[in-house]
Amino acid sequence: MTKKVRVRFAPSPTGGLHLGGVRTVLFNYLFAKKHNGDFIVRIEDTDQARYVAGAEEYIFDCLEWCGLHPNESVAHGGPYAPYRQSERKDSYKKYAEQLIKDGHAYYAFDTTEELEAMREKLKAKGSNSLQYDHRIRMEMNNSLRLLPEETQQLLDTNTPYVIRIKINPNESVSFTDMIRGDINFDTNYVDDKVLLKADGMPTYHLAVVVDDYLMKISHAFRGEEWLPSAPVHILLWKYLFGLHEMPQWAHLPLILKPDGNGKLSKRDGDRLGFPVYAMDWKDPKTSEITKGFKELGFLPEAFINLLAVLGWNDGSEQEIFTMEELIDKFSIERVHKGGAKFDFEKAKWFNHEWIKKLAVDSYMMTVKQLFVQKGVKNIDEGKLTKVIELVKDRCTLLTDFWEQGHFFFTPPKTFDEASIQPKWDEGKKEFFNVLMSKCADVQIWDAVAIENVFKTLATEKKLKIGELQMIFRIILVGTKMGPQVFAIAETIGKQETTDRINNALHHFYF
Ligand code: GLU
Repeated sequence: MTKKVRVRFAPSPTGGLHLGGVRTVLFNYLFAKKHNGDFIVRIEDTDQARYVAGAEEYIFDCLEWCGLHPNESVAHGGPYAPYRQSERKDSYKKYAEQLIKDGHAYYAFDTTEELEAMREKLKAKGSNSLQYDHRIRMEMNNSLRLLPEETQQLLDTNTPYVIRIKINPNESVSFTDMIRGDINFDTNYVDDKVLLKADGMPTYHLAVVVDDYLMKISHAFRGEEWLPSAPVHILLWKYLFGLHEMPQWAHLPLILKPDGNGKLSKRDGDRLGFPVYAMDWKDPKTSEITKGFKELGFLPEAFINLLAVLGWNDGSEQEIFTMEELIDKFSIERVHKGGAKFDFEKAKWFNHEWIKKLAVDSYMMTVKQLFVQKGVKNIDEGKLTKVIELVKDRCTLLTDFWEQGHFFFTPPKTFDEASIQPKWDEGKKEFFNVLMSKCADVQIWDAVAIENVFKTLATEKKLKIGELQMIFRIILVGTKMGPQVFAIAETIGKQETTDRINNALHHFYF
């Protein structure tokens, strides 16, 4: 590689960030880091009709959460600013006009009605393509058909126009995709795409080529849905800058529905009950909130890991990768050509593995926030860390820490009486009464000491330890769940343990 590696993620700010989008960012990012290159985020907002307020900030929040930090962007600045295409509007027109001068593009003045009539006409002819292309363009209202003075007159009278690329038929256009190898296109099937719109904004086709050139992009990785546009882009590169300047391209495979039947969409997520967006997205028009992986309780490390292996592997059986390992091992050539099925159960497995693997400190604050939201006050972070250590093996999502750990902070309001009742008698009642006073005498309040006191007393009273432990657990937790009961008692402390026994004894009426 001779050129400095410069890659870009080029989202259109139109709504929530789909996990496929994050995977595109990730592959760009890994490639840049591996080759000591730059990772650029460029906002492609030339389609004003699809623009959604707030979507841009949201994209940067998602990248921040994922730990995918751009070197250059709207938010981070950089030598090729502005990084928002709407602010670069003036730089595109001259390229479109250059193409006209060189005979590779033309002005088209067709109205919506004329375009509709064209499609009707093609339909009536039984044509299987309704595109604006070499077959029909000489019948349309454009500078190819009009006399130069007619065109000039229309321009002088400010008649609205678009600029279209002129695709020559019977040519073959090819390039080598880093994932898919050699790809050829027959220009007979390529339409004369609009390059510059009537509002003076470029379309994606013109803007992506011009900006990839001006921003010195060396490699462009984008979704496979852009493959059909590749011939237009290749021709633009050829006409404007020379093919040797064109970045190397890779078209990334789709992320598929769990059954492999088509692209995974937001609707599939709603239907099957899992998120497809990185973070919660609130539609500014409808206020509808679409759930994200973050808020559902995913760790960014797990999210990145599960996305990395959706369509890529390093050739071994390894599944858990840190970002550093991914940077080290990633190669775009090992990305599969075929789409990757999304499996939410597997996604949760990754999160569980990462909850166990990561140092508790790295996500304690997130769990704390969750507990605060649930109404717990004055949380001692040392205690919370201990709680997380005790229950983390039982948690798949960060939100599970509430279910698994709330009783360390809030005493149970109800008890699993159905489990206690058959085992309850005067002997047990007396046991717990005595246990309270024995607890008061324990000097060093830890699980071993508590277990000792508990078991000695049980043996003395000739009671079954298993039954007592089950009841003790329900007294402390309310249910039969949770980690080792003496560890629970240690963590909630001596006073709280005695209070909970006392409270339970008053509560039980059997
Ligand atoms: N703006 C395009 C999109 O949102 C970018 C495609 C590309 O990376 O070239 O999909």
